Amino acid sequence: MTFSPRVDSIVFDLDGTLYFSEEHSNAIREAAAVYMAEVLGVESEESGKILTAMRKRFDEEGRVGTLSAVCVELGGDIRELNYFLEKTLIPEAVILPDPMVRKLVLELARRFTLYIYTNNTIGLAGRILSHLGITEAFRRVFTVEERWRPKPDMEMLDDVMIAVASPPGKTLFVGDRYDVDLLLPESKGSPVYLCRTAEQLLRLEKLLIR
Ligand SMILES: [Mg+2]
Repeated sequence: MTFSPRVDSIVFDLDGTLYFSEEHSNAIREAAAVYMAEVLGVESEESGKILTAMRKRFDEEGRVGTLSAVCVELGGDIRELNYFLEKTLIPEAVILPDPMVRKLVLELARRFTLYIYTNNTIGLAGRILSHLGITEAFRRVFTVEERWRPKPDMEMLDDVMIAVASPPGKTLFVGDRYDVDLLLPESKGSPVYLCRTAEQLLRLEKLLIR
């Protein structure tokens, strides 16, 4: 498989795509449970269980169970949830930057125009990118705050594609969840790359040789 030589822009998801941290994923889940405990008027242990059950129901119903979607379904407010996560999480304490990933991203930035498209806020995404040492590699970071419509969302994707200003076929989307990050871009004619490990991510360089 190769994407060359047509690709000139790459749109990356952030969480689980450009860094891999079980501890941070757990921290996100726990913080969401604390936020939803307040909303639901229960203890956070109980709200954690309710969130897990709702995710399972989304799966069974074939719906995309992002954290945002599940919390909103249970009566949470997407803005409050995201600013609570931004205030609560300390990604710098748990994410271990991978020098190989940093090298790859900086190299790709020399050959392609790079973007981030994330369901995080700009505050949180900015801190993670800075911690990973790759802030400068990206022309623009698209966040949930622009429309408060988390991925997957066609209207927000249209905004992203207009801003990228390259034909869909020349814009590669990279993410760790096919239904969240890649399904809609692929339906628009973009090449996509599913990537869930550093090893898979590092393979990108070979795929993009031109
Ligand atoms: Mg992700």
